[in-house]
Amino acid sequence: MKTECLVVGASVIGGAVATKLSKKGLHTVILSDKPGVGKDGKCTSIISASGLPRTGINYKPAVLHEIFGANIRCGNAHMAVRRKEPVALVLNRFQLDELSVAQAQDAGAELKTSARFEKWEPIENRNAAETGKNANNQNAYNGMAQTAAGPIKTDYLIGADGIASNVARQCAFPALEHFVVAWEGEYESAALKEPDLVEVFLDIPGLFGWAVPAGPTTVRIGLATPNAVLLAHHKARLLQNPAILPMLKGAHKVREFHHTIPLRYRRQTQRGNVCLVGDAAGQVKATTGGGIVFGAVCAQELADAVHHHAEGGPLDYERIWRQKYAGALDGHRHIRKLMDFSPFALSGIGLRLFSALGGKGLLEQNADMDFIIRKEAGNTS
Ligand SMILES: Cc1cc2nc3c(=O)[nH]c(=O)nc-3n(C[C@H](O)[C@H](O)[C@H](O)COP(=O)(O)OP(=O)(O)OC[C@H]3O[C@@H](n4cnc5c(N)ncnc54)[C@H](O)[C@@H]3O)c2cc1C
Repeated sequence: MKTECLVVGASVIGGAVATKLSKKGLHTVILSDKPGVGKDGKCTSIISASGLPRTGINYKPAVLHEIFGANIRCGNAHMAVRRKEPVALVLNRFQLDELSVAQAQDAGAELKTSARFEKWEPIENRNAAETGKNANNQNAYNGMAQTAAGPIKTDYLIGADGIASNVARQCAFPALEHFVVAWEGEYESAALKEPDLVEVFLDIPGLFGWAVPAGPTTVRIGLATPNAVLLAHHKARLLQNPAILPMLKGAHKVREFHHTIPLRYRRQTQRGNVCLVGDAAGQVKATTGGGIVFGAVCAQELADAVHHHAEGGPLDYERIWRQKYAGALDGHRHIRKLMDFSPFALSGIGLRLFSALGGKGLLEQNADMDFIIRKEAGNTS
C-alpha cells in the first residue's frame, strides 16, 4: 500500500500527529532515526495541568509529580505564588514519548526505527509545491523520501523531527531565528523544603534557571541562555544559589544533558504538501521554552488539515494553526522581550515592582501557563 502520510520524528509530537492521522483513516508511517523512539529524556517535562488534556496524548501513566506553584527569585528578591489545585504536572519524558508513539501504533500507524529521513524528492508538479498553485489537487504534491530504510513514496511529508529538522533543511524552509542553549541535571536524594513548588531564577540573561521537583526527593535543575559561551558560568552560579545549595547537600546527580530550544516559530511551516510541527516549526513558548502543549495542539490542527485536503479541500495548515495559536505564542514572545530589554528585569527591583503592582495576585488567580490569561478570566483564544 502507498504511504499517504510520512511523519519524520517518533517523539511526543510525531506520535500526536500520527495518532490523529491514523484515526482519520490515513495510512501513516512514522520514521525514527534511532533503534527506539523519543527525545532521550532531554526535557524538564513540566506541563500545565490545563494544557495536558488538550494534547490528545495518553499522558497519565507518565505523571510523576504535582506542582502547586512557584518561588520566583531575582537577586535577593522573592515572590511565592501558590494555588490550591495543581497548576502543573511533572512527567517521565521517556515514557511520555513511548506512550505517544504507542498510541499512534494502536491507531494503525506503522513505526519504522533506525530509518533516518535523508532526502525529499518531489515527483509530481514540483512547481505547484513551490508556488502553492493547485492547492486543491490532492495528488499534486507526491514525493519520494529517501530514508535509511529505503525510499518511501508519500502524499504528505510531515517534519516532526525537532529543532535540527532535516525536513526543514531538505525542503528549504526559512531557518529558525531565535533559540537558547540549555543544561539540566537530575538529582536524587535531594532535601526539598517545598517539593510542591518549582524554583524559578530570573536573573539569567535571555531565559531563566529552574529547580523542578520530580518527586519528594528528586529535582531537575537547569538553565537556558542565548549565550552558549556563558552557559558554564551561569550553571556554576546557579548551583551556588542559596536556594539551591541546601537542596543538593547529600544529593547525587543521576543524569544530565545539553540541548537547544527554539524560541520563535518559523516564518513558514508549510510548503505544498510538506508541513512542520512541534520544535521543527518552533511552536514553543518563549517565556519558558515549553513546547509540548503548543506542538501537540498544532499537531491536531495539522492532522485535521491533511484529512480535509485528502477529502478534496484546501491544505490550510499554516493559516489555521497561526489563526488559533500564533497570538498566544506571540504573547509569550512579547513578555520575553520585555524581560530581556527592561532595565529592571534582571534586578530584584523589577520583581518587587511586579509584586507591588499586584503581579502575585494575577499569577495566583488569572495566569495560565500556556495561554497567559486563564480562559474564564477573559482569554479569547
Ligand atoms: C532543557 C529543556 C527543557 C524543556 N522543558 C520542557 C518542559 O518542561 N515542558 C515542555 O512543554 N517543553 C519542554 N521543553 C521543550 C520540549 O522538550 C520540546 O518542545 C518537545 O520535545 C518537542 O517535541 P518534538 O516531538 O517536536 O521534537 P523532539 O522531541 O525533539 O523529537 C524529534 C524526534 O525526531 C527524531 N529525528 C530527528 N531527525 C530525524 C531524521 N532525520 N529522521 C528520523 N527521525 C529524526 C529525533 O530522534 C526525535 O525522536 C524543554 C526542552 C529542553 C531542551
